[in-house]
Amino acid sequence: MNELQELYQQVILDHNKNPRNFGELPQCNHHAHGHNPLCGDQIEVFISVDEKSGLIEDVKFKGAGCAISKASASIMTTLLKGKTIKEARKLFDDFREVVTLDSNSNPDVMNLGKLAVFCGVREFPARVKCASLAWHTMINALENSDVEQISTE
Ligand code: ZN
Repeated sequence: MNELQELYQQVILDHNKNPRNFGELPQCNHHAHGHNPLCGDQIEVFISVDEKSGLIEDVKFKGAGCAISKASASIMTTLLKGKTIKEARKLFDDFREVVTLDSNSNPDVMNLGKLAVFCGVREFPARVKCASLAWHTMINALENSDVEQISTE
């Protein structure tokens, strides 16, 4: 494992141990529930979007699952605050690109910013679904403005 990969792993372990924005958001107007049956990960994402400005004011998540699913959700919430829905979708596209990249390719780490941490996930194809769960759930939440439970299955 090289130094960069070690750093990525530390970030993931840190977010798993101390997840950011963990909990419910009672005032949210977007909410979805995601489930990854392969691993048993469960994630709920709560998003509060200001309907006038279209900005994501707050985002929280809760759930139970493996370290990667939890860390991914935690890192995602730190990236979404203050973003527009369009920017959130762009982040989702960038994220998918990072985790599905050929492991021989050299992604532009500087350009990726915080998403670079997910480069490490490429080494574990079985974990891509774990890392992606929160992101798919976030997109589902943005597409469904009601607060009913939505399954990603
Ligand atoms: Zn998992």
